[in-house]
Amino acid sequence: MATSLIEGVFNHKCPHCREGNMYKHSAFNVLRYTEMHTECPVCKQHLEPEPGFYYGAMFVSYAISVAIIITTFFATYFFLKNPPIETYLSIIIPIIFLMMPLNFRYSRTLMLYLFGGIKYREDKTAGSVAK
Ligand SMILES: [Zn+2]
Repeated sequence: MATSLIEGVFNHKCPHCREGNMYKHSAFNVLRYTEMHTECPVCKQHLEPEPGFYYGAMFVSYAISVAIIITTFFATYFFLKNPPIETYLSIIIPIIFLMMPLNFRYSRTLMLYLFGGIKYREDKTAGSVAK
């Protein structure tokens, strides 16, 4: 059964076949969660379209961080009835820190899906970067 685009992004699958994992280890492996495969273990699609491609993921990561901060800010505001600024910081900073592995991985996954130029193909043959 074909994996949907949403499932592919959510599970960090290769954008070409949506079966191979992009990352070597779990997001909960705190020492090695950043390690990516250079090519997809299933279809051999190269997962870094050009050198330095993932520098752009910093902008995606920034957007995700801002979304987390705004969501946490309003949740704190409504649940704790407008507490002092120290309360906001003592809630937002640990959440940003704990979300770091997921933020890192989703920013790279979204960068590859949005700007990697890799088209989905069900036949699993090795692909190239589409132009
Ligand atoms: Zn693949």
